[in-house]
This record gives sequence, C-alpha cells and structure tokens, in this order.
Amino acid sequence: MTLPPLRDVIARHGLAARKSLGQNFLLDLNLTARIARGAGVGPASQVYEVGPGPGGLTRALLEAGARVVAVEKDDRCVEALAEVQDAYPGRLTVVSADALDVDERTLLPEGGPVQVVANLPYNVSTVLLAKWLTVAEWPSWYAGLTLMFQREVADRITAPSGGKAYGRLSVLSQWRTAPRRLFDIPPSAFVPQPKITSTVVHFAVLPQPVAEAELSDLKRVIDAAFNQRRKMLRSSLKGVGIDTEILLADAGIEPTLRAETLNVAQFCAIARSLNRLRAAG
Ligand code: SAM
Repeated sequence: MTLPPLRDVIARHGLAARKSLGQNFLLDLNLTARIARGAGVGPASQVYEVGPGPGGLTRALLEAGARVVAVEKDDRCVEALAEVQDAYPGRLTVVSADALDVDERTLLPEGGPVQVVANLPYNVSTVLLAKWLTVAEWPSWYAGLTLMFQREVADRITAPSGGKAYGRLSVLSQWRTAPRRLFDIPPSAFVPQPKITSTVVHFAVLPQPVAEAELSDLKRVIDAAFNQRRKMLRSSLKGVGIDTEILLADAGIEPTLRAETLNVAQFCAIARSLNRLRAAG
C-alpha cells in the first residue's frame, strides 16, 4: 500500500499546527530517514516515539523495519495515523496520551532493547528528557535515545565543563549516557517553519553511570551549585544540609571552585559525601 504524501495527510485531516503542542511537522523524507539511521534502527528494533504527528518520522522508522509504539496527545493526529497502521500491519501501536504522564514500561512489549526516537515538542523537550534521564532503575527500559532539540538545548546537553553552556542538563545527560550531536536541521525543513535551528542528538546509554551517586543527592547538589553558578561552591552549596567546608573537604573538592569547572565525577563525589555525612549524623 502506498501512503499519500504527508502534505495531503495534513490537508485532509485539517492538521493546522497548534503552537501549544509544539507542532512543527518534518516533511523532508531524506531527513526523517537520516534520523532513523542515526538512531541505528533496523528490522529487529523496538522504537518508542513521542509525538508522531502526521507520521513523517514514524514512516521512516517503519520503513527501516522497526516496530513502533507512539504516544500522541493530539487526537486529530491519532486519527490521521490509522492509514500508516494499515500500511504496516501489526507494527505500529498508537497511544492517545500525554507522554509526560505515561509509564512507558506498561506500553512497551516485554523484552528486547527499546530505542526512543522523537522529534520532540519544544515546550516539553527538556522535561521529557529529564524524565528519561532520572528513571529510578539503571540500566533503564531504553537502550538509547535519539531526539531532536532546539540547537541551544543540544549545546547545553553536550557541553563540556568550563563553559557557559555547561549546567544541570549537561551533568544529568553525561552522568548516565554519552550524548553526541548528529546533525542540524534548518527551519525550512518544517511546516510551519520554527524560528530556531534544530539539532538531533543521540544518547548512547552507559551500562553504568560515569561515577556512583544516589540520584536524589546528585540532583540536590547540581540544583544548588548551578542555581548560583557564579558563586564559589562553599557558598552556593549552603542549603544542601551539611556544612559546606566539611562536605567539600570530604569530597576532596576545592571550596573556592565554581560549579561550571567541576566534571561529572566530581559532582558525584560531592553527592556521595553528602549521603555519607548525612547518614553519619
Ligand atoms: N513527529 C512529527 C514530525 O516529526 O513531523 C511531529 C513532531 S512535532 C514537533 C511534536 C508532536 O508532539 C506533535 O504531533 C504534538 O501533537 C505532539 N505532542 C506535544 N505534546 C505532547 C505530549 N505531552 N505528549 C505526547 N505528544 C505530544
């Protein structure tokens, strides 16, 4: 069965883009195929997609041979995807839901590694990424993430320590995964055109985090450190619950350093000290 061009699908189903849902549809088939390739998706792959919209990227994933579970909040798009389901019998499950609320493990078939692939709605992209990066169990239910972000967000995700872009999102991303930029996509590839350039990022899941730490302690430390990123750690970390001079001495970190100069392993060292000193009372 040959599927109609995406422009026809959009016109026939009246999919006028809704800004509130971050709808910018990617209609360039070369680019959707390139994203599927960048994710390493092939015939044995299980894919979890958020926001299939009219189904451009979804078609590329199916064309590569994957089975896809896609969560979409806009019911107009859910209806439009019925013909894609018909064209690939038994390989596309569409779930009408808000991706922020779902428990992905209940939607995905048992067993087999899952690749998350999505052209994310910009308004919820970092919240969704944080949801996936802060799952309780590691290794997680997914084997890799291939996601599109606003270019500046991709800069923050992949930033090395020492610069302005390095922050909470960099540490969280680089703690459990190895994020890598794949390529940029210009505004002209989307309908409607956004004002920004997009970047596709692949996150290779690390079997173990870069260094050990309790997630809640690490979050507390990086939240405090980057909330006052201009201050020295001895002052920005006040409020984490342990005297900062004692905490930083225990972790072997100079108290006069600022958040952006610390690497991920050093943040983990502070998180472990916080955990230990708190338990010691
Ligand atoms: N994947 C399509 C493409 O590449 O053309 C559409 C991408 S568009 C940037 C984002 C999609 O996410 C839209 O279809 C929108 O309706 C959907 N969406 C927005 N917020 C969502 C949410 N919280 N949960 C699930 N889907 C959502």
